[in-house]
Amino acid sequence: MPLIQEQFFDIGANLTHKSFKEDLDLVLAEANKLGVRRLSVTGSSLKESIEAFEISRRYPESCISTAGIHPHNSKEYSPESFSEIKDLLKNDLVKSIGETGLDFNRNFSSPEDQQKSFEAHLELSIEISKPLFLHERDAHEKFVEITSPYLKDLPKSVVHCFTGTEDALLKYLDMGFYIGITGWLCDERRGKHLEKLISLIPLEKLMIETDAPYLLPRDMGIDNSSRNEPKYLSHIAKKVAEFRKESEELVFTAIYMNSLDFFDISI
Ligand SMILES: [Zn+2]
Repeated sequence: MPLIQEQFFDIGANLTHKSFKEDLDLVLAEANKLGVRRLSVTGSSLKESIEAFEISRRYPESCISTAGIHPHNSKEYSPESFSEIKDLLKNDLVKSIGETGLDFNRNFSSPEDQQKSFEAHLELSIEISKPLFLHERDAHEKFVEITSPYLKDLPKSVVHCFTGTEDALLKYLDMGFYIGITGWLCDERRGKHLEKLISLIPLEKLMIETDAPYLLPRDMGIDNSSRNEPKYLSHIAKKVAEFRKESEELVFTAIYMNSLDFFDISI
């Protein structure tokens, strides 16, 4: 049995991904055995947001979901598709709006389309007071520019899968955002800088996520072509405590409670 403090909340799991089609029961059971009590299933398009909601209805004791349009999919944004996102958010298991934000790394949707969709999500979050699940890659300055006018009215918001610079981190903290940390932290090639930055995040603003099936922690000795799974969240949590030089009990308890509070879930 895991110790009592080993309870984890995976705030970003892409369980609608086709790699989980066949064995989701097992994936969730194995995660639970390793202390992953709760998961937020990420919606990144209208279709996936509907599927994420269906997963949360199948596993309401462990899963909640988000509804939104990922910046990659911003070209699918329209008032019609967005009103369906809004309808989904009327369900109690759909706890958060997103993912939304900006991703200029590959510009699968144009920056203009990304901005239009992002602003609609920001406005909706204020209208319905549900927290925001935010994505930003290679777009820090524009992201700050777009969110700033809304800041005083925004509900709780998390910049998920943070991989940026110290300056970007400090700016997001200054803006009041929570920070989501993934197994990127365990990547000695790309994530080394996060080892130091992780201690700059106040414990009350820190949450963790696997972003499964992506971002398999590279230091687990698992074949790199394998899918990432929520059960590996405990590995990420241990790394967070190690790099922060704090006790696992303190860190695990804080990030779990932060996550329940963020998504407005009572124990
Ligand atoms: Zn993302």
